[in-house]
Amino acid sequence: MLSPRFKNDGKPIYKLNEIQLQAKADVELKIEKGQYEFEEVNCAACKSKEHELLAEKDRYGLTYYTVICKNCGLVYVSPRMTEKAYAEFYNAEYRKLYIGVEAPRAKFFIKQTNRGKRILKFVNKHYKFNNKTIDVLEVGCGAGGILEVFKQAGHNVVGIDLDEKYLNYGKEKFGLNLISSTINDLDENIKADLIIYAHVLEHILDLDKELAMIKKHLKPDGIVYIEVPGVRYVHKTSEMDFLKYLQNAHVFHFSLNSLNRIFYNNGFKNICGNEYIRALYKQCDKKQDIAYTNEYSKVLNYLTKTEKNLYSFIFWIKKPFWIIKKLYKKYIKE
Ligand SMILES: [Zn+2]
Repeated sequence: MLSPRFKNDGKPIYKLNEIQLQAKADVELKIEKGQYEFEEVNCAACKSKEHELLAEKDRYGLTYYTVICKNCGLVYVSPRMTEKAYAEFYNAEYRKLYIGVEAPRAKFFIKQTNRGKRILKFVNKHYKFNNKTIDVLEVGCGAGGILEVFKQAGHNVVGIDLDEKYLNYGKEKFGLNLISSTINDLDENIKADLIIYAHVLEHILDLDKELAMIKKHLKPDGIVYIEVPGVRYVHKTSEMDFLKYLQNAHVFHFSLNSLNRIFYNNGFKNICGNEYIRALYKQCDKKQDIAYTNEYSKVLNYLTKTEKNLYSFIFWIKKPFWIIKKLYKKYIKE
């Protein structure tokens, strides 16, 4: 384990509101009653079983086993909740736990459009569609704020998600073309020049199956945009805290290398990307021999160092307050 902080003591690292506390209690009860079952899985990048435990809980204090593959360095969750358990979790507790509100709000949509602007900029910078109108498909679109940006830029957009409340928000308020569907059930005539997965792929249980479906809906020259919270970028996000980064809906914590490897295994090649992670992929016909290095030591060292830095960060922030408190007690109170 990375440090004793990651032991499963049920304590959240954030202060949760009433809605979140209720959702957390519901999940815990379902785990206790065996309604939410767990299963062991192999590494999705190299199929190895050899892993090392990093954490037993997530930021909400929920049971959550984060491991690192010793053979390739992919950070993933095992044992993890089964497909059936996750399906119910997304339906019943996910939004309440993660957003802390029950229904979509304008604030959520604005956050999505801001993300959409950054995605449009990234795609335009790295891939030339030569100013033509393209067909965009977003998987896990929520209320459709990202697609609204592409629509405003003159493109044809379709979004899919399973949350009716969020879909209706985008449909009714912005007239977006949003469908309640998974990519597995999507009309096979829908083909896109650009498929977007923004903060979605880390939730997907079967990546090989998902990438096969992406191929089905991608035009031959089309590209895939992936945005996920990079495991080697924690020092710049999540308040530099790996525990704050962990959330039980995420079953993978990718680095650019591990993501590239999974895509390559499924017939895609990386066009560009960074550790944030934002990356573009396109299909490749030929299997070239790309040698992927085992990132195990590199990623583990990174996470160990991040944890160590956190202590010194907190220490230096808190130190002046400790001194003031001591002085107060010594000279004023007594
Ligand atoms: Zn592996």
